[in-house]
Amino acid sequence: MTKIAFIGLGNMGGGMAANLAKAGHEVVAFDLSADALTRAEARGAARAASAEAAVKGAQAVITMLPAGRHVREVYDSAVIGKAPKQAILIDCSTIDVATAREEIEKAKAAGYAMVDAPVSGGIAAAEAGSLTFMVGGADAAFERARPLLEAMGKAVIHAGGPGSGQAAKICNNMLLGASMVATCETFVMAKKLGLDLQTFFDISSKASGQNWSMTSYCPVPGVGPETPADRDYEGGFAAALMLKDLRLAMEAAQSVDAYTPMGAEAEELYTRFAEGLGGGSKDFSGIIRMIDDSWQAPEGSGAAPLPPGVKLGDSR
Ligand code: NAD
Repeated sequence: MTKIAFIGLGNMGGGMAANLAKAGHEVVAFDLSADALTRAEARGAARAASAEAAVKGAQAVITMLPAGRHVREVYDSAVIGKAPKQAILIDCSTIDVATAREEIEKAKAAGYAMVDAPVSGGIAAAEAGSLTFMVGGADAAFERARPLLEAMGKAVIHAGGPGSGQAAKICNNMLLGASMVATCETFVMAKKLGLDLQTFFDISSKASGQNWSMTSYCPVPGVGPETPADRDYEGGFAAALMLKDLRLAMEAAQSVDAYTPMGAEAEELYTRFAEGLGGGSKDFSGIIRMIDDSWQAPEGSGAAPLPPGVKLGDSR
């Protein structure tokens, strides 16, 4: 049994902390949201009054926070220098590579072992304990984090040194965003060319166009396995989160002078769908509705309606 401080019990952290408690660990939880804390308590965690109180006496600290600035704030103010030096520090949030490296460096200088360990898999995988963890950090730190991550996931992979988990995560999600857009535009064109979409799926999924966005996560309702497309693009991986990851990817690309035209195009298209057209809460495959011109921006989303006769495809 390990005494774990768990900070950030939102959509993802809630399920992850519950799985650690279920595995027999002592989980002490803190979140700025009282509701999130109440839910965590009901699922086996003890409630702490602050992040600093949560890390007191902890053997491990796990964070699952929205973005880099939250991670920096929590580690700088309440973890580094406050948790026992023997505690292993594990940040599972998806954040920029630079902040991940800086925080691991600061932790190391203060005598801690720390890893970045972002996840692949959404809320359902967090609940089911079937996340995939991509871990960056020294070998010894990875080995200390591994058993705890295994209690929350189905795969734990050492990606390399500090920040490598975040690098692997955004590279993967840049590929996913670009391949989803390519899959969507392909199906829209196939339809316009008169193809039956199930027949096209059967052909392309066995031909060289085959890719995960099509065969496992087809954006067309009723084609391929059941996906968010069959639930009006509800649930799944929100377009706003895909946009967040694409922005992190573009930031990282710039920092190392990598030429990423497809990633940049995907970022622009998801910006338009998630922010310009109010599609942020829809599954990311819902971008097909922007591409086929059938998207209706939700009321109150602030999205400007297109002038009569102008198609989404024309507005580029
Ligand atoms: P969320 O917004 O539901 O949860 C974040 C929680 O952090 C909230 O409960 C918030 O109150 C808490 N928080 C914020 N600042 C805090 C602070 N200073 N101290 C304590 N608590 C604080 O977000 P989520 O969906 O759980 O995502 C968490 C991370 O996981 C993000 O980095 C996200 O990109 C990543 N991620 C999410 C998904 C997904 O499908 N939701 C999938 C993969 C990765």
